[in-house]
Amino acid sequence: MMKTGLVWFRNDLRVADNYSLSKSILENDRVIAVYCFDPRSFAVGQYGFKKTEKYRAKFLLETVIELKKNLAKLNITLFIYHSKPEEIIPDLIYEYAVDNVYSQKEWTPEELDVAVSIKGKISNLNLNWVESYDQFLFHPDDIPFKWQGIPKVFTQFRKLCEKSVAVRPLVSLGSLLPANIAPDIISNTASDTRATYIPTLQDLGFDDFTTDPRSAFPFKGGEQEALARVQNYFWNTKNISRYKTTRNGLVGIDYSSKLSAWLANGSISPRTLYFELLKYEQEVEKNESTYWLVFELIWRDFFKYISIKHGDDLFKIGGILNKDYEWSTDKRRIQQWISGETREAFVNANMLELMKTGFMSNRGRQNVASFFAKELTLDWRIGAAYFESLLIDYDVHSNYGNWLYVAGVGNDPRDRKFNIQTQSQRYDPRQTYTSLWLQPTLF
Ligand code: FAD
Repeated sequence: MMKTGLVWFRNDLRVADNYSLSKSILENDRVIAVYCFDPRSFAVGQYGFKKTEKYRAKFLLETVIELKKNLAKLNITLFIYHSKPEEIIPDLIYEYAVDNVYSQKEWTPEELDVAVSIKGKISNLNLNWVESYDQFLFHPDDIPFKWQGIPKVFTQFRKLCEKSVAVRPLVSLGSLLPANIAPDIISNTASDTRATYIPTLQDLGFDDFTTDPRSAFPFKGGEQEALARVQNYFWNTKNISRYKTTRNGLVGIDYSSKLSAWLANGSISPRTLYFELLKYEQEVEKNESTYWLVFELIWRDFFKYISIKHGDDLFKIGGILNKDYEWSTDKRRIQQWISGETREAFVNANMLELMKTGFMSNRGRQNVASFFAKELTLDWRIGAAYFESLLIDYDVHSNYGNWLYVAGVGNDPRDRKFNIQTQSQRYDPRQTYTSLWLQPTLF
């Protein structure tokens, strides 16, 4: 009997090293794929910000368009919709008599609800649903802890993982291509439900825009762009060899890897980066800087594990520590922070960079978040929601995990508050960065 597989792409928007895709090709004669631009992701959230602003929307569109081309080379049609997945995927399953569904496993409430809703609509079918954790460097089945035993402190987590976990090898696609069963009809309107209609930026609610020439993230979405960035940052410029000394920088494209946005939507896997780094270490040089990129990828894993362990507490005002602090929701001060009109020039410059580009350095993020939560004592969830809206590299676990950490309701054992003046003198001694954003006419 012919077997038909369906791959539901979520935050794993790549063909290389993609477990769901490889497995679907291996286990089925025919494979189709689907991606949904979920209208809820572009709606206004509870704090008045769009869940996704124009920067990430454009990056995502670029990513999905490339994914479609890459899948076509494998004989797989990617159906693209601007609809809720639960309104589309059950119909596809029925129409193509799908036997096996594959998707990356997500666990945060909104993502979970969607999967539950789809499963509810097809519960009468004898269908096999394979969900896999494909977003980690260290696979959940390999770490030396049960969920509840995940350490509170990052260093403890890192050391134990480094000691006992081997990063799993990359998965390959195999050589047998599936048969193509879904003709790729591309429609100009959304009304033909079985044709692929790739929404435009306007359909998602935005006008087109040009990238600010000062942007530290002038890159495009997609798997090829991610690989090109690795090629450039590792091999062409060898900037990776200096990463540890430049990573607190603020200006330009090369002070850090800038890989976060591709990692966040899964157009590159952390394993791919890890093995490319090993290759670099063997062929060029191994030093503290090359190690430090792995160190940061472990931070990324850590916040994912913290989010699994603590579930909904990630989004609660008391955080994972259940702290009962006083928080303000003063609209004027929130607006001043957003529009870069606080008393701190360093905070203002960072907030303007975010508003105008969708990116901000790690140093900047720590400072503006600390200022918001610990100086202005504003409800940290509002700051986090604003970041969620604007950031091109938004990742639910990294964003909320870092916000909790900085706000003093998460994993920082020292509960630090940043001294903005000292930070600004240290990291922007000649005010190059502050002037770039506060006096743009000079540039
Ligand atoms: P690099 O310095 O080159 O680091 C390499 C990779 O390691 C990054 O791409 C990222 O995947 C990971 N990484 C580095 N630092 C961290 C960290 N502190 N936590 C988790 N992973 C890390 N990162 C996101 O990817 N998405 C977010 O939504 C996000 N929100 C944040 C919110 C706050 C308040 C703070 C303080 C940090 C946040 N970060 C987030 C983490 C970090 O700021 C970015 O990952 C980093 O600035 C991206 O630039 P890069 O790729 O050049 O990083």
